[in-house]
Amino acid sequence: MATKIGFIGLGIMGKPMVKNLLKAGHEVYAYDIVQEYIEDVTRAGAVACSSVAEIASNCSLIVTMLPNGPDVKDVVCGKDGLLEHLSAGSTIIDMSSIEPIVAQEIYATCVAKSVYMLDAPVSGGEPKAIDGTLSIMVGGDATVFNSVKHILLDMGASVVHCGDIGAGNTAKLANQIIVALNIAAVSEAFMLSTRAGVNPSLVFDAIKGGLAGSTVMNAKVPMILDGNFNPGFKVDLHIKDLLNALNTGHNVGAPLPLTVAIMEILQNVRAHGMGQNDHSAIATYYERLTGTEIRD
Ligand code: NAD
Repeated sequence: MATKIGFIGLGIMGKPMVKNLLKAGHEVYAYDIVQEYIEDVTRAGAVACSSVAEIASNCSLIVTMLPNGPDVKDVVCGKDGLLEHLSAGSTIIDMSSIEPIVAQEIYATCVAKSVYMLDAPVSGGEPKAIDGTLSIMVGGDATVFNSVKHILLDMGASVVHCGDIGAGNTAKLANQIIVALNIAAVSEAFMLSTRAGVNPSLVFDAIKGGLAGSTVMNAKVPMILDGNFNPGFKVDLHIKDLLNALNTGHNVGAPLPLTVAIMEILQNVRAHGMGQNDHSAIATYYERLTGTEIRD
């Protein structure tokens, strides 16, 4: 069923997600602070909007895909934000990766204005955003979830209701810990083989079908072997996610010693000017340690 959808945040992820909603027959009103990104999705059939208020006055179902909690708070609860303009009964689906507790705070402000909200972060990165095969993890009221599930499935291959508001982002934090540590493990292991004189490309071929193989290995090792660290998922965003994971871990009494270690590796990568590069640049930390590149 075609629906009118407002979409705010047209970055690496937002742009292809909008295009998949258009492909599925929805009418999409789009806004970003970067004009060029609005023009990109307009060429694919979206309606350009020049403010959050214009989105809210045209649509009662809004998707946000923004960098972090403060951005979502600003767009939803801030001056001239969504809640100043949306009618009661509207629904906001925040698909950004933010701290669960911040999702809960924004939800409470929405409820006070009779606006529904779900947190629905995604995993899969730009390739799966383009293919419309994202994994989407959702928190919030089950009735609201069921009313929009079909729209989420137009952007994703899997949509799982994980629990109350914030549960989607809790699942996403778990995902981000695993992804970061997996890239570090792959980098460490492939540096070992390189230094030992065994071609890392052949090691990849030899082990990817075994127990060590993973989606992360398949996606990131070819980038590392090519020395291609174009994003993808930016180091700065992964640092943001791990900071959210550490805050959440401290709040709920879950020690995260490995997350601390990979956070410091990512800080090193950022300090070397690679904050806007893909998180596969974790490999460059090992390359600096040894003075050796992991290449085919
Ligand atoms: P991005 O930085 O490419 O895009 C964010 C967009 O939000 C930018 O275009 C920016 O201009 C826009 N924006 C910021 N503030 C705004 C405001 N006040 N009003 C309107 N637009 C505003 O980031 P991304 O990679 O698309 O990621 C978006 C979210 O999805 C993040 O929370 C990220 O952690 C998460 N995520 C990203 C990936 C990935 O592989 N890139 C994968 C899964 C999840």
